[in-house]
Amino acid sequence: MTKTALFLSAAFLIACSAQAPAGAHDQSSHTAEREAPSDPKLTVETITDNLHVLFGPGGNIGVSSGPDGVVLIDDKFSRNAEEILYHVSEIAGENDALLFVINTHLHGDHTGSNPEMKEAGALVMAHDNVRARMGTSYMNKAFGRMNEAKDETFWPVVTFTDQASLHFNGMTARAVHTPSAHTDGDSIVVFEGPNAIHMGDTLFLGMFPFVDVDSGGSMQGMIAAHDAALALADDSTVIIPGHGPITDKAGLQDARDTLQTIHDRVRVRKEAGNSLQAIIDEGPLADMAEMAGFIDQDGIITATWRSLGGAID
Ligand SMILES: [Zn+2]
Ligand SMILES: [Zn+2]
Repeated sequence: MTKTALFLSAAFLIACSAQAPAGAHDQSSHTAEREAPSDPKLTVETITDNLHVLFGPGGNIGVSSGPDGVVLIDDKFSRNAEEILYHVSEIAGENDALLFVINTHLHGDHTGSNPEMKEAGALVMAHDNVRARMGTSYMNKAFGRMNEAKDETFWPVVTFTDQASLHFNGMTARAVHTPSAHTDGDSIVVFEGPNAIHMGDTLFLGMFPFVDVDSGGSMQGMIAAHDAALALADDSTVIIPGHGPITDKAGLQDARDTLQTIHDRVRVRKEAGNSLQAIIDEGPLADMAEMAGFIDQDGIITATWRSLGGAID
């Protein structure tokens, strides 16, 4: 079987609901003897006995554990790999075999440890466009620099188009594609056991989001991703953002309404014939100044402008 055929058949298998292969990972991969990091960068928050979140540099990691093993949602940077595996081992004990890593999208703060996680036994999976884009260099106009292609060791080996269901540890996790949101390859991951949703970077809680228009993202798609998650959530659903603290359905609704407000303020001004610079100079988001961080007011106005079809130099 060719490599491509293997990928295709694996993708087909996952698309049709994958069963975690019982006993496929023997316990020789157990890593409980891993030493505590001397210079820790990550902190752990417990959602339930079987779901934890790793905070620290890069995107928030979901750690789903149980008798079959561990599924990770995203894997931060390469420099965090050892510490991630240490926490996996601490959380999962004897059942720390890595089954899957789901990448919520292509960015390096969510996929940086893919090679190390593959080494540790994980199958990395993501939306089709994550694999397609990872092998391609592109100009990121938002930051005025090239994003260089990643080599094949980073690429997901199982990809899907709309959604994929993983059945493991007596529950189901569904990766659901949200089109043209933070990028064009985003997935949110819905845990139907612990009642939680990992939003990837479709949710930056309490801060202006990065909308990667150069990777196919859009403000309208960001709002639609919030709506998709809201439709799947109830009042006890735990909402895990890609960046920022854990929240609930009400917090997600607030974030959605803020994005709509930003979108509408830029849209009204654009439709009135204002230039991008005129909108920036007017400062229509001055009342949201506390949300500036990685992305400032100019940045989110520009991303919204571009999402509305506006050109930039
Ligand atoms: Zn991120
Ligand atoms: Zn991102």
